[in-house]
Amino acid sequence: MATQMLFRDDAYLKTAAAQVIAASERGIELDRTIFYPLGGGQPGDSGALIRQNGERIVIADTRKGETFDSVLHIPAAGSPLPEPGEPLTLEIDWDRRYALMRLHTALHVMSCVVVAPVSGGNIAPDKGRLDFDIDMNLLNAERIEQGTNDLLARGTATETVWITDEELDARPELVKTMSVQPPRGAGRVRLLRIPGIDLQPCGGTHVANIAEIGAIRVVRIRNEGKRNKRVEIALA
Ligand SMILES: [Zn+2]
Repeated sequence: MATQMLFRDDAYLKTAAAQVIAASERGIELDRTIFYPLGGGQPGDSGALIRQNGERIVIADTRKGETFDSVLHIPAAGSPLPEPGEPLTLEIDWDRRYALMRLHTALHVMSCVVVAPVSGGNIAPDKGRLDFDIDMNLLNAERIEQGTNDLLARGTATETVWITDEELDARPELVKTMSVQPPRGAGRVRLLRIPGIDLQPCGGTHVANIAEIGAIRVVRIRNEGKRNKRVEIALA
């Protein structure tokens, strides 16, 4: 059974109510969730599922299930398992998620300062990175930092846009990432638009306004291979 992914429409939900579909040590499936499952370089959420008697089931990680729209909430070792049909209150580790949202959105902006195909990327709560297929000599930490922070200072509101698979096929220039193709199969693809700055397919969670990011600093730039010149950033 499908899980309704509430974070797609509102990335700011810190709690929600849901019902258990199935539960095992491998993962707990719910009818709806605010937990983002690992994907697109963004880690899965951690948090807790709270039973009606107040007992907390600690969730260590969140992953995609086997079917297209299933989500597995992975209980920490030794956590109790809920019963199918049981109502629960969901609570994500919001400080961690918000840091991920800020860094994730910052990477969208940074990817518009470095004009090159993106060959990889990853986000952690304390830093994020993108790999570019570019000549090392064209990467200048000061210029990337200044260029990104100038764009962030615009304080632009972000938007979620949906297009059909066919529309995306007709606009291949939207896909900057060489390694991660946007998820297909549902007939439509989700895009993040930062008006005047960026438009690209992305299923992750983003801040509502890039002003929430503040400023970033470039931590380091490193050669990680022929097509991978890595730019690592952190929140300033
Ligand atoms: Zn994104």
